Amino acid sequence: CGIVGYVGKRNSQNILIEGLKKLEYRGYDSAGVAVYTQDGLQITKSKGRLANLEAVLDGAPLTGSIGIGHTRWATHGKPSDVNSHPHTDNSRKFSVVHNGIIENYMTLKEELTAQGHVFVSETDTEVISHLISSLYEGDIVKAVQKAITRMTGAFALGVLTEYEPEKLVAVRFFSPLIIGVGEGENFIGSDIPAILDHTRNVYILNDGEMAVLTSEGVELMTLEGNFISRELFHVDWDI
Ligand code: GLU
Repeated sequence: CGIVGYVGKRNSQNILIEGLKKLEYRGYDSAGVAVYTQDGLQITKSKGRLANLEAVLDGAPLTGSIGIGHTRWATHGKPSDVNSHPHTDNSRKFSVVHNGIIENYMTLKEELTAQGHVFVSETDTEVISHLISSLYEGDIVKAVQKAITRMTGAFALGVLTEYEPEKLVAVRFFSPLIIGVGEGENFIGSDIPAILDHTRNVYILNDGEMAVLTSEGVELMTLEGNFISRELFHVDWDI
């Protein structure tokens, strides 16, 4: 029920956790983060309060300057460690956080299972990470765009792959998502409070739009890949 993401020069773990705290009002039953570290993509997640996730991370911190985080409000699959986000695929090279529901996930799951994908969770979200992995041909933006053409439902997504560890991909389709624009760092969040400690410059995405973030910039485009130019929105209020 809450998405955050960071790409920049600072260590991402605490920025993600603090961002998730600002989204606590949206309600959640579990939480997790994925960070690209020097050991590759690492995912840590835990059922229950954010404090549970923080306790696990205290024992085994993730170090890296790009990451995504999630607080979950379960719709498909009970609250549990394995059903928590981020989800990944069998290669563990892709990570996905998702708000919303994938209506046709059973069809996709059967299709991907027939191709040899092995699912570990009961969620609808896990099909997204396997689908992106199955469609990946060296360009994460294209793989996400192709995956979306197969998905029905409502979704906001944050996607991070070990193959292109300088890039965050964000998608908005009938679930909220905003982009925070900093200096040498950029952010995604389900809502403005998640990023307000770091920047007041925001792009509001519309449904059917996506963004590609690096530490140096943000590109906005339609889900078909047509670039969009938009004025930054300046947030002049406080929480
Ligand atoms: N449908 C997904 C799940 O149950 C996402 C729920 C959410 O928006 O937090 O895991």
